[in-house]
Amino acid sequence: RLVLGIETSCDDTGAAVLDETGAILGESLHSQKEVHLRSGGIIPTVAQQLHKEHIARVVQEAMDRSGVSPRQLSAVATTVKPGLALSLGIGLKFSLEFVRHHNKPFIPIHHMEAHALTVRMLQPVAFPFLVLLISGGHSLLAVARGVSDFLLLGQTLDEAPGDTLDKVARRLSLLKHPHCSTLSGGQAIEHLAKEGDRSKFPFRTPMGQNYDCDFSFAGLRNQVTMTIMKKETEEGIEQGSLLSCVNDIAAATQHAVAAHLAKRTHRAILFCKAKGLLPACSPTLVVSGGVASNQYIRKALAIITEATGVNLLCPPAKFCTDNGVMIAWNGVERLREGTGILPHNVDVSYEPKAPLGVDITAEVKAAAIKVPS
Ligand code: ATP
Ligand code: FE
Repeated sequence: RLVLGIETSCDDTGAAVLDETGAILGESLHSQKEVHLRSGGIIPTVAQQLHKEHIARVVQEAMDRSGVSPRQLSAVATTVKPGLALSLGIGLKFSLEFVRHHNKPFIPIHHMEAHALTVRMLQPVAFPFLVLLISGGHSLLAVARGVSDFLLLGQTLDEAPGDTLDKVARRLSLLKHPHCSTLSGGQAIEHLAKEGDRSKFPFRTPMGQNYDCDFSFAGLRNQVTMTIMKKETEEGIEQGSLLSCVNDIAAATQHAVAAHLAKRTHRAILFCKAKGLLPACSPTLVVSGGVASNQYIRKALAIITEATGVNLLCPPAKFCTDNGVMIAWNGVERLREGTGILPHNVDVSYEPKAPLGVDITAEVKAAAIKVPS
């Protein structure tokens, strides 16, 4: 069985062909990151235009590299939710035309489910497991009980951690710093934080008084911005030209993000244990999304998992970010299970907003589990 996966939910045009074992036969990825970096954020119409320009070539390239002909495909899997409407629309339109033309089954994919399942392509991980997804657009904790069976324990109430790090990096003009010009905001902060002293700026960990698994990063960003403004005023310098304590601010910001993620994850583990939602014997936490490649954050999470007897799994960075591979893999999982497979002439629409699984955040809040600091 062979699956073509197509991803266009945000700013990456990705395609890949996988076989049933998860072997990647061919893949292609066109990233718009640099374009959006220069404009200081994603402009949806620009993202749409770039997807439009690249989708046919990216899919063709993945197919060519795999040596698989459309005739040999068992199905086409495509991200249809959640994401930017204009971006999702391009991938979906292309895919529906493709499956109609080649008379192939269509498998609509939930982008966050795909992120959560990617780890199973790389190693055997049995359901149920706990998953923390942290990226430029998301922050959530969920229990993966099956291929399309998730319990949502908590999610961000405002912005995602990657978004926060990108905004702080932009406010500090980090891309102008040596070795940072080609890095994402999060990578630049991780790089500079290595030389920084986080204790110089003791930012408050968000939501200390909320005993749930939700996240919030906007308040932290506000704290950091105020600190930067104060420093700039003190030194009588222009906005974005701070040099003196940039490393310390980077270290302190990274620490606050890590502490917040670790606290929420710790509570999620305790909640799952109390409710019997994870296997009693060596439960697993999977961490994915672009922010998961941060080594400091991984270490913070490792401290929690070690203390609670949980296995910590982080797929390599390449599989943590958006690509066609994870979408194709989700398609393979669906085919194996025999669920969510639609006929070639189906009409599917995309959904910009789509919660992951069954929302039990209220139950988590009600449990009000205290986490040791
Ligand atoms: P989503 O997957 O939610 O649609 P996205 O495509 O923006 O959003 P990813 O590509 O998974 O997300 O991740 C990109 C984000 O990860 C950016 O915000 C970037 O700053 C952040 N990031 C990448 N590397 C690191 C790192 N080493 N440390 C912290 N953050 C990082
Ligand atoms: Fe993603």
